[in-house]
Amino acid sequence: MEEKFSSLYLHIPFCLKKCNYCAFYSIPYDTEKVELFVSAIIKEMDLTHIIPHNIETIYIGGGTPSSLSVKYLGKIFENLFKLYKIDKNVEFTVEINPGSITKEQIELFKSYGVNRISIGAQSFLDKELKFLNRIHNSKDIIATVKALLSLGIDNISIDLLYGIPHQTFEDFKLSLQKVTLLGIKHISLYELSLEKKTPLARKFKKGQIVLPSEKTVEKMYLYASEFLNKKGFHKYEISNFAKKDYECKHNIVYWQRKPYLGLGPSAHSFIGEIRFSNCEELFSYAENLGSNKLAWIEREKIEGFEKLKEKIILGLRMKDGIKISNSCLIEFFKDFMSLNLVNIRDTNKVSLTDRGMLVSNEIFAKVLLHIENCLVCKEELVNPLLNVK
Ligand code: SF4
Repeated sequence: MEEKFSSLYLHIPFCLKKCNYCAFYSIPYDTEKVELFVSAIIKEMDLTHIIPHNIETIYIGGGTPSSLSVKYLGKIFENLFKLYKIDKNVEFTVEINPGSITKEQIELFKSYGVNRISIGAQSFLDKELKFLNRIHNSKDIIATVKALLSLGIDNISIDLLYGIPHQTFEDFKLSLQKVTLLGIKHISLYELSLEKKTPLARKFKKGQIVLPSEKTVEKMYLYASEFLNKKGFHKYEISNFAKKDYECKHNIVYWQRKPYLGLGPSAHSFIGEIRFSNCEELFSYAENLGSNKLAWIEREKIEGFEKLKEKIILGLRMKDGIKISNSCLIEFFKDFMSLNLVNIRDTNKVSLTDRGMLVSNEIFAKVLLHIENCLVCKEELVNPLLNVK
């Protein structure tokens, strides 16, 4: 691997129980499979560390990384530090589930310099957690945050969902209020989407569940943006809010299209303008690595219109937005400005307003359609791709 990267993502595919809305690649915990996985990911590290990359961000996600015991997590961490050159100021995040974290695990995280924890809380209402088939309750979330703080980890992020079936605006407000009382630094707020083939999507199809109305969902997002801002969490990306200087550096790498390497089944990578991913299924992943081969599949070089599309979509997700020096496209964005969906600063910096973020997908689709059909934009933007930063 000759191209440089300074971010690593490790995917731990195990979960103790499947949540009914989840479409991520995850499999039930099983000791034999865990052994197989750990040997394979260590092999993958061994095959990819060849160039001494200076790793500045590490993100261990899943699945549920905290479903692995100290024995297996320790093996992974040990090899990570043995095989990669890790920057002394690395941002090192581990995702945990409040229902499956122990004091020993937190102590292990500390000993390896884990300095950021992301908690999959989702809601503070036990009826909602039960409905989503989560393994934890609201008391577990509070106990987990307290345990982390008492052991000196204060850079804590919490994931919350909104738009949960049967959720009222008041229910959501309650979760929001509780999350801001915990002394944490970061909140990720995601709208629950009905992913194909999930039990929740099937229930919806059969008419067994009711989603909050579009209006309620919009109200939840706009209220959260304002409420969290008042509580000192500024929105720096469509779904992410942070106290000053606690933005997630690793996720910013994705939105800024910087290179990263993904390890583990189904993990995605972006290196040298090429997007590629590992095969999803644990046995084929492990089989490849067992034969000293990387398990890479689906390789795509990102260039031309595709590259421009990524720059616009990923850039506009960020609160800072993008810089555009193409006058035709600026004029096009002015229409959205008159609808209070877009801000234009310093004549060429375009970003989405809170309302614009609500309908970001519609805006992206319209902008890309305009570029595809406009000879001036195509000429100036797609080739030579210099006018969007
Ligand atoms: S814990 Fe996370 S990855 Fe595992 S099933 Fe639930 S949502 Fe999916």
